[in-house]
Amino acid sequence: SVYVDYASTTPFDKEIMEKVMAGADVFGNPSSIHRVGKDAKAKLQAHRTRIAESINAKPKEIIITSGATEANNLAIKGTAGRHEKPHMITTDIEHASVRTTYQDLSEQYDVTFLKASENGLIDVDDLKKSLQSNTVLVSIMLVNNETGSIQPVYEIAKVLKDHQALFHIDAVQAFGHMEVNVHALGADMLTLSGHKIYGPKGIGMLYLREGTKLSAQITGGSHELSRRAGTENTMWVEALALAMEKADSKRAARSLKEMQLKERFLNELTAEEIPFEVNGDVNRQASHIVNLHFPWSEAEFLLTALDMTGVYVSAGSACNAGTVQPSHVIQAMYGDEERALKSIRFSFSHLMEEEDILEIVSQLKAIYERLYGN
Ligand code: PLP
Repeated sequence: SVYVDYASTTPFDKEIMEKVMAGADVFGNPSSIHRVGKDAKAKLQAHRTRIAESINAKPKEIIITSGATEANNLAIKGTAGRHEKPHMITTDIEHASVRTTYQDLSEQYDVTFLKASENGLIDVDDLKKSLQSNTVLVSIMLVNNETGSIQPVYEIAKVLKDHQALFHIDAVQAFGHMEVNVHALGADMLTLSGHKIYGPKGIGMLYLREGTKLSAQITGGSHELSRRAGTENTMWVEALALAMEKADSKRAARSLKEMQLKERFLNELTAEEIPFEVNGDVNRQASHIVNLHFPWSEAEFLLTALDMTGVYVSAGSACNAGTVQPSHVIQAMYGDEERALKSIRFSFSHLMEEEDILEIVSQLKAIYERLYGN
């Protein structure tokens, strides 16, 4: 079988898992003032420092959360709630954790949703035109999770430099595949998730630039400098730190391999004469993701047929009560519901081999021939 859905989640790196388990004896509550607590606190601080260094931040700028969904919620609601009549800007291709949060807030506040064009990118001029004197927050992702499109965040940061609005970047799908440096990116807030980078599920973080105010969404004790209450998940913080460190040291090799696998995949599809189109601009996409339009089949049928042959892939669209919804990202790009219903996201990993690519293509070819072949 071939798993080709690494943008959904990655397996937890066994080496990291073992290292974390080996340190389980340091079990104290970092808030306890006795020796056992202090040992845990020291370890937690060391891991926080590693996490911060990886993205060129300071340890106190890191807020540990239960994942990127929580981090995005905290960034958006924690900023909106501090203002009387805020205006906020986001895009129509964000992950659900950003999009849904803004959709909910738009009942109460003024929110602008920027449109993506067919290349999958946001137009920086649209952003310029949308900025208002009361714009307090702009949320734009670095890499789109469905198409892999790399948004022009460096140019966006330049536009926002002289504006009061905070810049919040969802970098979940970028980390490990390209450089994520909060200063170079001009981010005031940035989110990451453990399980997309070979760490565990249920851990993530929000970077919050020093001096930036944010209202806690989970209240209680004064953990995480009173920005997120709850006893810290010390072992998973260590796992996140180790996953980030490993992803950094192996980034060049891993992303080169992903790129080679993607290229081989597209070349094989062409060679086998399986009709497809790349959604978006393949030259402006992250190494590990490609989204393909197969005009000859609904995604739901293809996914099921591939699943039966042991090829595991996603449409990149939410499943609601057993029905595959058209991808909101593809629909936003092309304004074409049929295209959105006939598109599939393939997401690669350095863990895959060329034989896996050949297997996926051969199964796709068999399905295509069963439908149309002679
Ligand atoms: N943002 C993006 C771009 C994602 O791809 C995901 C993962 O699904 C998330 C946020 C949410 O991350 P988590 O699963 O850690 O809540």
